[in-house]
Amino acid sequence: MPGLLPRSADVVIVGAGAIGTSIAYHLARRGARDVVVLERDQVGAGSTSKAAGGIRVQFATRVEIEFSLRGIAFFQRFADEMGAACDFHQEGYLFMVTDEATLARFRTNVALQRSLGGDVRIIAPDDARALVPSLRVDDTIAAVWGPRDGYASPNDVVQAYAAQARARGVRIVEETEVTGFELEGDRVAAVRTPAGTVATRLVINAAGPWAGPVGRLAGLTLPVDPRRRHIFVTDAFDGIRHPLPLVTDCGSGFYCRSEQGAVLMSPGDIGAATEYEPLVDWSQLETAVEKAVRRIPALEHAQVRHAWAGLRPLTPDGRAILDWAPGLRGLFLAVGFCGHGFQHSPAVGETVAELLVDGRTALDISDLALGRFAPA
Ligand SMILES: Cc1cc2nc3c(=O)[nH]c(=O)nc-3n(C[C@H](O)[C@H](O)[C@H](O)COP(=O)(O)OP(=O)(O)OC[C@H]3O[C@@H](n4cnc5c(N)ncnc54)[C@H](O)[C@@H]3O)c2cc1C
Repeated sequence: MPGLLPRSADVVIVGAGAIGTSIAYHLARRGARDVVVLERDQVGAGSTSKAAGGIRVQFATRVEIEFSLRGIAFFQRFADEMGAACDFHQEGYLFMVTDEATLARFRTNVALQRSLGGDVRIIAPDDARALVPSLRVDDTIAAVWGPRDGYASPNDVVQAYAAQARARGVRIVEETEVTGFELEGDRVAAVRTPAGTVATRLVINAAGPWAGPVGRLAGLTLPVDPRRRHIFVTDAFDGIRHPLPLVTDCGSGFYCRSEQGAVLMSPGDIGAATEYEPLVDWSQLETAVEKAVRRIPALEHAQVRHAWAGLRPLTPDGRAILDWAPGLRGLFLAVGFCGHGFQHSPAVGETVAELLVDGRTALDISDLALGRFAPA
């Protein structure tokens, strides 16, 4: 049910996914009292509820690795801080590498990750097989193992952010779409919705895959391009050893992990074009099974029980955008989180709250500036 729409707010956040609700929660924790989140559907209904929940430190830039490390620390203390469970499992991430160029990239990244305190190791194919006995490794040259990586429940996490934000006075208004901006000169003055207008001097675009359309309402072109990705989940399957860490086949883009005695798997993204409707295309199952059996032959005997598809808000370099909108005062962008917005949501919420409350951030977020892309 939509709530009552406030007529004004200090801060309006567009989108109640992991990013928007985490920002709301962290702002409220820092004492912000007049924060409104506008969500056109329900809390978590966008990409967040479609995520595989994966959490890893294998990123290529300092800020992303720091976000991951903060995220892991947050998920470890989640129950204490949030008063709810989030099904966090540290069962590891294992990347299977089949070519030298990819291995060289991993070597550089792993050195950076380790220098920042990440527990990541390059191991031999046989060591990977010791971790996952059902793996085929004869075509691999190495594996990359992050034993402290894992996964948590995106839905539990987003609902907890929302509950804790509400408990601190944040108003989250569902079924209320932002349909326009009102400007005063070069600054934001209000957002429009079918239920009325909310006057505000500060809007945060946290609309996930729909960040582009929301940006266009304010006259901006944002380099965020949603792509569809499927997840298939099998029946309970004992043809492999559980828990299966999150295994990614770097060559094919396939990945899988245990999900309560079953196997959750994805063939990677499909479609070269921007998509806004995450419909399930069952023809993708064949691709998923083909890729699965190539890496873990025993999966040939698993039965797929259900599937869903979601949108990953991609940017041209695979990194998010955390920055003020150019040429328009009062619009902040927390968009383009690609395939890692769930795991980075704790640190992003904390960082954006620091920026808005203190005027500066503990972590250097300049690598996530919009200006790294040429204007469209
Ligand atoms: C299949 C799949 C697997 C993934 N696996 C992982 C993973 O393992 N680990 C990981 O970290 N990430 C993963 N991701 C990525 C992750 O889901 C996203 O990066 C993250 O959920 C983005 O969160 P968000 O809050 O930015 O967007 P969303 O969760 O999409 O939230 C944006 C919200 O904005 C709302 N909205 C849009 N337009 C408007 C409007 N005009 N007015 C009001 N509200 C609006 C939407 O309804 C939506 O609820 C995966 C994604 C997919 C699709």
